[in-house]
Amino acid sequence: MNHSSIIRASALEYVRGVTSGEFTAEEFLSETLSHIEEAEARYNAYLHVEDGQKLLARAREIDRGIKSGQKVGLLAGMPVSIKDNICMRGSRTTCGSRMLEGFVAPYDATAVSRLHAEGGIIVAKANMDEFAMGLTTEFSAYGPSRNPWNTGYVPGGSSGGSAAATAAFECVASLGSDTGGSVRNPASFCSVVGYKPTYGLVSRHGLVSYANSIEQIGPIARTVSDAALVLGVIAGRDEHDDTTADAAAADCGYLEGIEGGIEGMRVGIVDEMTEGADPEVARAVERASKDLEAAGASCERISLDMVGYSVPSYYTITAAEAASNLARYDNLRYGYDLSVDGYEFNSYVAEARGRFGPEVTRRMILGGYVSSAGHAGRYYLKALKVRAKLTREVADAFASSYDILMAPTVPILPFRIGEKSDDPVSLFMVDLNTVTANLTRRPAVSVPYAVSAGGLPIGVQMMADSMQDKTLLRAARALEKRRAPLPEVPD
Ligand code: GLN
Repeated sequence: MNHSSIIRASALEYVRGVTSGEFTAEEFLSETLSHIEEAEARYNAYLHVEDGQKLLARAREIDRGIKSGQKVGLLAGMPVSIKDNICMRGSRTTCGSRMLEGFVAPYDATAVSRLHAEGGIIVAKANMDEFAMGLTTEFSAYGPSRNPWNTGYVPGGSSGGSAAATAAFECVASLGSDTGGSVRNPASFCSVVGYKPTYGLVSRHGLVSYANSIEQIGPIARTVSDAALVLGVIAGRDEHDDTTADAAAADCGYLEGIEGGIEGMRVGIVDEMTEGADPEVARAVERASKDLEAAGASCERISLDMVGYSVPSYYTITAAEAASNLARYDNLRYGYDLSVDGYEFNSYVAEARGRFGPEVTRRMILGGYVSSAGHAGRYYLKALKVRAKLTREVADAFASSYDILMAPTVPILPFRIGEKSDDPVSLFMVDLNTVTANLTRRPAVSVPYAVSAGGLPIGVQMMADSMQDKTLLRAARALEKRRAPLPEVPD
């Protein structure tokens, strides 16, 4: 590999290259940092790039470790980025919001300390929709990120900065968070892999909460194996997060068996997630099912009645949780400088909350309404019932007939910046295919599959039963291997 191309290495290629002496961690990082400088003018994928000198010093330490035969961790100095709702000690964490402008995290999220422990070098905090609410990054208070496949288009969201940066080689891999599709949706729009683990597999300690009964941190990477490598680093029981699964269930070797193939696997293609899809997107899923059959799986169509109610259920539950989680931003405990004359609690907090952008404001009002005493029975409790029924339906499908449920990740193609930002309800519906995995706590992945006639990426989503993350990665890898070659992201 020559220097201009080394930063295009996959994570596995990086680790092989750096440990075999093909290039040094310092060279790779310094190429990445100069590329970031040039690329950011186009993509706005990052909100904050860390101090290059400090990062390079760390890379040199890794290089010395490699030379002297010491353990340098599974990531061996690999440049990675993290979404700006994941805390890293001493680094700004804004959640894409003016509310947290200038907030510096006093501790590391568990996922961050695990990346560090395995030799990962975190180069930047990635742009996102404010507090992870949205699916385009247009709700970032710091301007939208742009899709590297076409800068007039959204990169998806809410982890749009992470996906754009990974697609544009501004890092080898990134961490996002997925509450209703925020890792998979931008992965699909930017033609990278986005993995949402089983609920409880990855600690959320240090992830700023949006809707914690649902969300997970997940890796975004350029290949399925890369996502598996990063997942193995961040997964596992954490004493700081009681929802994490115990060590035995959360087996960390996610690369193991990934090439095992899918002979005999049963795949259900979900009608409700395919029928209304853009024709080019629907055709891609059709072709993907042929690929899986050629690899030895059997595919058939399946209907899941409750999917039609998943979006209203998701937005009711998440709005209620968001309203409660974000109530802490009253500018007394967290917030920004606000000089108001005198002190009257309600007007002070109202003024302070004026810093929230339109989408967060909408969700907080909605969340307060659906969970209030007079309305909870009609909205919030009903949404919980839908969630329970959907979970039963999905559990039955896995128990009786299928290993994998497949669908387009997003039913439509990436769209232009500004095209839907004034129409929140039509944006909500774009989440139709992704929220089921979150509501039912199943793992799901978006695999880049094709590029449309207009040059825009199409991803295919696969979902598996709880704790079947290894099966899911094996299936995703089989699809990645079979698919027709994809074009390179345009320069
Ligand atoms: N688009 C969904 C929402 O706005 C998903 C966001 C997410 O996964 N964080 O809630």
